[in-house]
Amino acid sequence: MKPIDLRSDTVTKPTPAMRAAMATAEVGDDVYGDDPTVNALQERIAAMLGFEAALFVPSGTMSNLCALMSHCARGDEYIVGQMAHTYRWEGGGAAVLGSIQPQPLAQQPDGSIPLAEIEAAIKPDDVHYARSRLLALENTWGGQVLPLPYIESATALARRRGLAMHLDGARLFNAAVATAQAAGGDARSHARTIAGHFDSVSVCFSKGLGAPVGSALCGSQDFIARAHRWRKMAGGGMRQAGVLAAAALHALDHHVDRLDEDHAHARALAEGLQDLPGVTVLPPQSNIVFVDLAPPKAAGAVERLRAAGVLCSGSVRLRLVTHLDVSAADIQRAIAVLRATL
Ligand SMILES: *Cc1c(COP(=O)(O)O)cnc(C)c1O
Repeated sequence: MKPIDLRSDTVTKPTPAMRAAMATAEVGDDVYGDDPTVNALQERIAAMLGFEAALFVPSGTMSNLCALMSHCARGDEYIVGQMAHTYRWEGGGAAVLGSIQPQPLAQQPDGSIPLAEIEAAIKPDDVHYARSRLLALENTWGGQVLPLPYIESATALARRRGLAMHLDGARLFNAAVATAQAAGGDARSHARTIAGHFDSVSVCFSKGLGAPVGSALCGSQDFIARAHRWRKMAGGGMRQAGVLAAAALHALDHHVDRLDEDHAHARALAEGLQDLPGVTVLPPQSNIVFVDLAPPKAAGAVERLRAAGVLCSGSVRLRLVTHLDVSAADIQRAIAVLRATL
């Protein structure tokens, strides 16, 4: 039997319809600005999120790096969550390649950084200090939707103190779809509302949206012009990238609204594991389920699950991520395997 891969929503394979869109994409040399499909994607995502411009980049990591380097110069500082992807899981790129000092701050369980801590971390204008320039937030963070009132207050604080705002919205559309599910309304307008609080937003096409490659960085014309230079310098100038942009356009057309299926699957998975002794399931808000295991259960759990046909990541805390290539039937089978194995 085919293993059920819940390690990440990055493991999806392009659907036949997506492959067809890729195969028939009109292309040109994007380093010359000649690729019509890349240009269409950049215009589409910028308009969707309410920005002047966007830049197609190979990865979320490069997107965040270009964003940080476009906001901050050498000797500047950005304020970021201690467990934020940008700070923790991107090889320290902002510091290594951008000479940007990170100021990481502990996050609360919902992913927010307390406003008082942000305020206290902003350095005075004094030669002893790096220049505080930017606040970077992440949404969703650990599958959780950053509360909109928090984003509003953080933006107000940033504006008052002269900081720019960047959103690592790798899973922004999961946040928007979860918000639409909880509060009503349309996911696309929630995405625009969330994005509207930021000077720049990075979104991934290669996670829940199911494209093989690619992210977009959105911002003002000027900002994107700066980011474009950094992308080139980082080696992210791509040629006939329209074959990839076509996958992302297909994903925006067909894979945004269906994210609520992934969220329903995550809830079903969480409910199916609820009453297991020695197992604590964190209620999922989007497509990521965390499962805490009592130490005796944790030893070798990931390996035993793998042998039984369910792939997941973690150790004491398992991470199970639902996505396009996991069906309702797969979830039922995963629940049975997890229950038998744990
Ligand atoms: C995956 C991810 C990234 C980086 O994306 P890559 O395409 O893997 O480089 C950045 N931020 C968050 C929150 C992510 O989940």
